[in-house]
Amino acid sequence: MTGAEPLLDSPFGRAGAGNGKATMADEERPRILIAGEDAASVGALAAAATRAGYEAVEADGARRAVELFSRHRPDLVILDAGLEATEGTSVRAEIRRAPGGDAVPILVLTDPGDLAPLSSGCDAGATDFAPKRASWTELAHRVRNMIRGKEAADALRLSEARLAAATRIAQLCRWEWWPRSGRFRCSEDLDRLLGTAPGSLSRLEEILDRVHADDRSAVRLALEEAARLGRSAGFDFRAQGADGSPLHLRGRVDPEADLPGRARRIRGTIQNVTESVLAEKRIRSLAHFDSLTGLPNRVLFDRHLAIAIKNARRHEEPLAILILDVDHFHRINDTLGHTAGDRLLRAFAERLQHNVRATDGLTRGEPSEDWGTVARLGGDEYILLLTDIRRDEDAGKVALRILDSLKDPFPLDSREIFATASIGISVFPTDGDDAETLLKNADVAMNHAKSSGRNNYQFYNLSMNTSALHRLSMETRLRRAVSQDEFLLCYQPLVDAGSGRILGVEALIRWRHPELGLVLPLEFIPLAEETGLILPIGEWVLRTACAQGRLWHEAGFDRLRVAINLSAQQFQRQTPEAIRKAIVGEGLDPSRVELEITESVLMGEAARMRRTLEEFKAMGVRIAIDDFGTGYSSLSYLKKYPIDVLKIDRSFVRDLVQGPDDKAITVAIIHMARSLRKDVIAEGVETAEQRDFLLEEGCSVMQGFLFSRPVPPEEVSRLLERQRAARGEAGGRER
Ligand code: C2E
Ligand code: MG
Ligand code: MG
Repeated sequence: MTGAEPLLDSPFGRAGAGNGKATMADEERPRILIAGEDAASVGALAAAATRAGYEAVEADGARRAVELFSRHRPDLVILDAGLEATEGTSVRAEIRRAPGGDAVPILVLTDPGDLAPLSSGCDAGATDFAPKRASWTELAHRVRNMIRGKEAADALRLSEARLAAATRIAQLCRWEWWPRSGRFRCSEDLDRLLGTAPGSLSRLEEILDRVHADDRSAVRLALEEAARLGRSAGFDFRAQGADGSPLHLRGRVDPEADLPGRARRIRGTIQNVTESVLAEKRIRSLAHFDSLTGLPNRVLFDRHLAIAIKNARRHEEPLAILILDVDHFHRINDTLGHTAGDRLLRAFAERLQHNVRATDGLTRGEPSEDWGTVARLGGDEYILLLTDIRRDEDAGKVALRILDSLKDPFPLDSREIFATASIGISVFPTDGDDAETLLKNADVAMNHAKSSGRNNYQFYNLSMNTSALHRLSMETRLRRAVSQDEFLLCYQPLVDAGSGRILGVEALIRWRHPELGLVLPLEFIPLAEETGLILPIGEWVLRTACAQGRLWHEAGFDRLRVAINLSAQQFQRQTPEAIRKAIVGEGLDPSRVELEITESVLMGEAARMRRTLEEFKAMGVRIAIDDFGTGYSSLSYLKKYPIDVLKIDRSFVRDLVQGPDDKAITVAIIHMARSLRKDVIAEGVETAEQRDFLLEEGCSVMQGFLFSRPVPPEEVSRLLERQRAARGEAGGRER
């Protein structure tokens, strides 16, 4: 505020200071109401006041005085004390009650020596007293001061009103806190803001209680630092408003220090900035989301893509971009109108989102936060970012799923509309190493899909179309294999190489497909694991191998061990108790079963793993580590977990005779197993040299083509019978 503002410029100052009255406009002159019972003395006083530069209003009689006061709103009232005495009413009280009357100074002229009005004067509304017959010269000084005082009070009131209006407009609440006594005071707006009863907030804690739990400690810290260190601070926080809605507030604390650093009093403000925060959010949302569908727009998508590429590069994982274009969209727009077109685009967006979300667990088996992003590029084009894929071809599955979902019509008004899409796919890093290339190539692929008759998807890299198709058809076949009983088990003997005696067998799965012929496990087990089909397959293996084991036991080979491979998923999903039930359910003694797991399975949470393995141990099932030595894992688990057998991977055995490294590794494994008192089995023994070397190093249990290939169960039975006959123990029990 500046002194130049007309509202605050005081005219009386100039009049009172004796500045030229001739230059002063009438309305700027301070106005004095002079009231008395004697018109002559009132007139004389008025004339003197006018000469001194005031505007004088004369009133003879009490009623007239009150009436003129209301009409003229004078800056000062000079009132003859006798006026009241004759008419018996309190003129002062009536003036005080009139509008503007509470603030006007009233100078009461009274008989000198009459002390009664002096003692009760203030109560009756008088501001000051002067002798009745005082001349203007005697009154002038007092009049000037009283008017000046009124002007000052008016200015103060005005500025307070303005401040109140400003704080109301800025939604600014004020409070004060005396940290030592804990006294707290706040403006009523704070009560209004927080919905508390006026004056009920008597402690700072009561405000803190209303602060959002996540922000409370930051607010508390700012207050404590203000109190302890005398530090000013500003902070944003959230609280619950009077109607329960969330408020965004901006706080400020300004300590008033006495001792260095210690605050005596802290003044603070709380400003309601909810509207601007929400507006900011709206603006941000407008900048990043498509207003028609609510999907991320190109700007936000580009940002996601940049981050996704960075992550994919770091973790060496694939990611895919799908560009979708609604086929013949303009026809819908042209025939049904833009409103229907818009509605279709929205419904389309919803279906896409649904599909991308449905890819949760498509490859991982469990939902992930990190599902792809769907965005609208504009027009009838959408774009999808898939980060949750294992291999490039998985993107084809999502595309197919989307095309499938479009087989259902979109209900628009009272009719149903069918819409198809053409989809182009590019994958990182095969089809591009940066966003721009990936987008460009996905677009090329999309156009390829359009020119290939629409309603289909195309990879940018054409050879992927075939490989994706292949995977897809394998998956379909594998699903059917489960229901059509196309699997069978072969068994490979585990042999004591010293005596040649069969100690056990490992069950190895085979898939006999009507067209593909015999498929080996390495060609379908990984796919089965990715699709979750490994669970029903594993269950079938477990039951079939145990049932076969029981048959052999019943035939008298009751010491024969049955080794069964357990996939990671099976190990994690099936409880030891469920596995025990399956074994016992087939009539086999669990102590004859050896479960083969790979080292990677053991990488799970240690405490849980230990519990699981101990449960197996308690039921008598033996645990073997398959392909030992290839798992890059820490060997400490060998001490931690109850493991019975190590199976030396056949890659070491293969080069045993020529490769010095493999020889060293094999020898080390055998010695380690011995010192840890674990059994050791050598896999993939194909030659007599390998056998002899292993025997010499103290590993006698072997498995490999040298002894037998994996064979059908009848073949195993024949081998077992032959051995029994050879030992001349026909009819006797195996020992
Ligand atoms: P594995 O458990 O290490 O099984 C041994 C593999 O080595 C078998 O391959 C077997 O045929 C092969 N083999 C045995 N002796 C020799 C040899 O002297 N020379 C060579 N070159 N190979 C030999 P297969 O049957 O193809 O099985 C491959 C893998 O598939 C298995 O490796 C196992 O990890 C997995 N698998 C097999 N059946 C099942 C099953 O029922 N469930 C699960 N989860 N996995 C299985
Ligand atoms: Mg195995
Ligand atoms: Mg193995």
